[in-house]
Amino acid sequence: MDLRLYDTLSREKRVFTPLDPNNVRMYVCGPTVYDFAHIGNARPVIVFDVLYRLLRHLYGADHVKYVRNITDVDDKINARAAERNIPIRDLTEETYRNFKEDVAALGCLAPDVEPRATEHIAEMKTLIERLVASGHAYVAEEHVLFSVPSMPDYGQLSKRPLDEMIAGARVDVAPYKRHDQDFVLWKPSKESEPGWPSPCGIATPGRPGWHIECSAMSWKHLGETFDIHGGGIDLVFPHHENEIAQSRCAFHAGVMANYWLHNGFLQVEGEKMSKSLGNFVTIRDVLKDWPGEVARFNMLRTHYRQPIDWTVKGLEESWKTLDEFYAAAGDVADKGVSGEVLWALTDDLNTPQMIAELHRLRAEVHSGAAGAPEALAGSLRFLGFLRETTAQWAGRRQAASNIDVSKVEGLIQERTAARKAKNWTESDRIRDALAAMGVVLKDSKDGTTWEIAR
Ligand code: AMP
Ligand code: ZN
Repeated sequence: MDLRLYDTLSREKRVFTPLDPNNVRMYVCGPTVYDFAHIGNARPVIVFDVLYRLLRHLYGADHVKYVRNITDVDDKINARAAERNIPIRDLTEETYRNFKEDVAALGCLAPDVEPRATEHIAEMKTLIERLVASGHAYVAEEHVLFSVPSMPDYGQLSKRPLDEMIAGARVDVAPYKRHDQDFVLWKPSKESEPGWPSPCGIATPGRPGWHIECSAMSWKHLGETFDIHGGGIDLVFPHHENEIAQSRCAFHAGVMANYWLHNGFLQVEGEKMSKSLGNFVTIRDVLKDWPGEVARFNMLRTHYRQPIDWTVKGLEESWKTLDEFYAAAGDVADKGVSGEVLWALTDDLNTPQMIAELHRLRAEVHSGAAGAPEALAGSLRFLGFLRETTAQWAGRRQAASNIDVSKVEGLIQERTAARKAKNWTESDRIRDALAAMGVVLKDSKDGTTWEIAR
């Protein structure tokens, strides 16, 4: 069975051929650990977990190596630690612990290696010195910068016009840059900032730029060239473009990774998620109200390259579907993943098609087809679902199951109309009626959302 993956670099879906089928290697950019991860951050974690499971199935669990880094040196981390008045290491440890708990609750396997940037400073310095020695980087005012014009084919991944790349890079204007596009590999640290002895004979201690971290960690754990590199679509430029520049120039290699995979962005209830809009949802927030399996399923209903709209309605529907799957196959011993589910996944992780296959299997269970419950159970467990017994699952649902979503939404509409008409008695009456049903309302300038009271 051929696996086909859409590669951002070549802009086409290609058959996946690993460099070494006994050692299939994947690197995914991980979190910057300064605060709880948001539900957008959960998307690459879940998507690449599905790919990891698929690769393990196709090549054998011992023949796949998945590396997802932890960025534990970053100016946002420094600022947050100072704000909270705690040591940086305490902040990064605490955040990393929370992240691990969150993604485990979402049913994601731990990667084989989770390297920390601060434990790979030596590798970063080695790369930086090589780049300087070969004329791809230069020292200026205690910084080391990558010289973009030293790489004639820079920009292949994002394929942005040169003037756009220059405009993008101008965000970091600095007098010591030879060219506007040049980017930082190493920068000096003030006494209050974390610092390490600098490379290239620079006297002041310093710290690495963001991009060099991933070149160093992927090199250390996967080698100079590897199979798959993943992350969210926002990382294409500049992060991945710059990783490619650093790694290819340091190793004199034609490629860094053979397949570049990017997940689309997640928005919440139709809007870009942002702290200022007040619609910022952490994974922790989601897990307070929804089982991890529901959040996972909801993420997989949309193909990973499409944008996804994260809504309460979608979560409710996902929960209902999982109820049906649990009812059909919850406590059944499984016989592995079904061929059709695998087939859907090998087509560039076509999870909507995979879900259609799960529904088809459920229909077969209902019509009494032999082997259907086992195939459904096997497929769901392969994908990280059915992690509970049917009884445990039903228990979670009990509190919420009495709630009729369309009734709740109808009442909310009535209340919105009452509020518009300044009929406060009526709007309060509806709020109380909903509260009696176990529904809590949240009003914001963008409208009303609801959740089940815990
Ligand atoms: P960050 O901590 O911002 O570097 O992001 C960690 C990962 O989450 C990266 O792969 C990002 O591309 C991804 N990511 C961040 N925000 C979103 C979003 N709203 N939707 C999908 N992926 C996201
Ligand atoms: Zn990275």
